[in-house]
Amino acid sequence: MKNTNEMEIRFDSRSANEGFARVAVASFMTQLNPTVEEVADVKTAVSEAVTNSIIHGYDNEIQKVCIRCRIEDNLFTVEVRDKGKGIENIEEAMRPLYTTKPEQDRSGMGFAFMEAFMDSVEVESEPGKGTKVKMKKAIGKGREIWTTQSL
Ligand code: ATP
Ligand code: MG
Repeated sequence: MKNTNEMEIRFDSRSANEGFARVAVASFMTQLNPTVEEVADVKTAVSEAVTNSIIHGYDNEIQKVCIRCRIEDNLFTVEVRDKGKGIENIEEAMRPLYTTKPEQDRSGMGFAFMEAFMDSVEVESEPGKGTKVKMKKAIGKGREIWTTQSL
């Protein structure tokens, strides 16, 4: 049987909560015994997705952002969801350097960072309904081999 665990948090879309979201997710994933680098990767990806919900999804209006985390053996899944304005063309939005807010010094690299730091990134979005970003990362890749050999 698979070893599973889940948690869900819901918070106001205030930039003050970006740090909270990052730390909450990092703290939940510690039970996977991740490296400092793995934790940093997940924190960066979560920050990018939460920032997007706050500034793009809700245009800085205060509404709710939801994060769901799931552990399935060594696979860590995190979903960041908003009920904001949604994305018309997901493929275009995910392209590196694409941004709809260049005037706000956005570089259009958020999705590129999520993809670089996680094993997979899936985006579901509907204009007027909201956006869900689902990211996965296997924790401890490569370390198991070392453990087996050292037995
Ligand atoms: P950066 O992340 O580098 O500050 P950015 O946020 O514009 O800049 P991405 O994070 O890659 O870049 O997002 C690309 C574009 O996708 C955004 O400019 C925005 O138009 C759209 N987008 C991303 N997330 C959402 C969301 N949750 N709701 C609505 N639109 C979004
Ligand atoms: Mg962004």
